[in-house]
Amino acid sequence: MIQRTLKEITTWLTGNDEAKSTQAIKISGVSTDTRTIQPGSLFVPLTGENFNGHQFAETAMENGAVAALWGKHEAAPPENLPVIYVEDTLTALQTLAKKYLAELSVNVVGITGSNGKTTTKDMVAAVLGKTYRVQKTEGNYNNHIGLPLTILALREETEIAVLEMGMSARGEIEFLSKLAQPDAAIITNIGESHMEELGSRAGISEAKFEITAGLSPTGTLIIPGEEPLLTEKTAGCSFQVRTFGIEETNDLYPQDVEQRSDGTAFSINGENGSGFFIPILGKHNVQNALSAVAAGEVFAVPREAAKEGLKTLAMTGMRTELVSAKNGLTFINDAYNASPTSMRAAVSLLSDMDGYEQKIVVLADMLELGVNEEAFHIETGEAIDPKQIDYVLTFGELGEKIAQGAKRAFGEERVSAYQDKDHLIADLQKIAAPGDIVLVKGSRGKKLEDVVNAFV
Ligand code: ATP
Ligand code: MG
Repeated sequence: MIQRTLKEITTWLTGNDEAKSTQAIKISGVSTDTRTIQPGSLFVPLTGENFNGHQFAETAMENGAVAALWGKHEAAPPENLPVIYVEDTLTALQTLAKKYLAELSVNVVGITGSNGKTTTKDMVAAVLGKTYRVQKTEGNYNNHIGLPLTILALREETEIAVLEMGMSARGEIEFLSKLAQPDAAIITNIGESHMEELGSRAGISEAKFEITAGLSPTGTLIIPGEEPLLTEKTAGCSFQVRTFGIEETNDLYPQDVEQRSDGTAFSINGENGSGFFIPILGKHNVQNALSAVAAGEVFAVPREAAKEGLKTLAMTGMRTELVSAKNGLTFINDAYNASPTSMRAAVSLLSDMDGYEQKIVVLADMLELGVNEEAFHIETGEAIDPKQIDYVLTFGELGEKIAQGAKRAFGEERVSAYQDKDHLIADLQKIAAPGDIVLVKGSRGKKLEDVVNAFV
């Protein structure tokens, strides 16, 4: 993490370095959160709609803050807290990250896309981690606040930073990309998330392509080769382009994909790339792994090191996580989030899995899909194959639309919609038997992990 004197930080932010006695204070770390702030940190109070971080300066000091940034227009800071006055603390946080990054000799991999960013981030870090000193975004710190904090947490000796970049509107990825200036950038896929703000898949692809705004002209862009909305944009670009996908026309494509009980085995482009294994399920995760291997190639990571890294991948939780529950039941806990693309991918994964008795899906609302949200849910339901899946249980008001769609092929019998989670859990307990497998998936707001937790 950042280790600088208050004087150095003041110079970065204000251009002047008034010789105050406090300027020799050593800062180790930057935090916006008084609950997790570490001793020696610079406290950055942010102001939101419902809170003003400046009010918590005393708590920040009690918990170890040794200095703070301070909005010029705010009430006076606590007397014994050394502060740097700035126009806006958020902008100052971002500037600070940019200045710090400029002093590091770290390479950056930036990752965006509709689905699979966090998973891919973990995979890229795993691929690079056997060869380089790597740091990655913690959890989901992927926005205009999380990204600068992640940068400020980089150690001086880190060689490659793997940074997730999330968005909900146009211009956000451009901003993050210009801040982090990646040497390699991955767009995982184009889905339907954020249709509400961006209008169409074309709009979404424009927004994701913004990751090239800060990409080094000698850098590499890694994209799904079967997404014309992206490939068409690369014509005439100065950076390198590498593609991944299903077809042999891609730079990286999978062969011999085999779902095992503990993960997925596959080869990349034939013999030479055989023997890959990831300890998670699903063809979409093979695609994520291909993009990670492509990122490894940018930094000349040997294939064997990439394989080793992926085999022992450390995942951020609740993403296609296989959970052994009571009474011989197995769950696929994919409750972290959902969109039509990822829900289809997860149901298709369940369809492909062998060795189980009944296959049950518990699906909830997919939020933020915009005006066509009902149609997306109905289509998702229609796409579930009654020959592959035994029961469809849904939760929530939009979830009910999935049930509505599913009933077209299933009939009334094996499809039930619930608005009460406990009721759903009680019925699932009746339906599920030893040897069954249950996929649980919905938007974060629906907290479907409650269903899994009721069984473990
Ligand atoms: P967020 O926008 O919340 O940060 P994310 O893009 O980081 O999400 P992950 O957390 O990695 O995505 O994965 C969320 C879910 O998306 C996974 O549980 C999985 O079901 C699905 N998913 C992952 N990769 C893909 C992919 N390549 N294509 C489709 N769906 C995917
Ligand atoms: Mg994420």
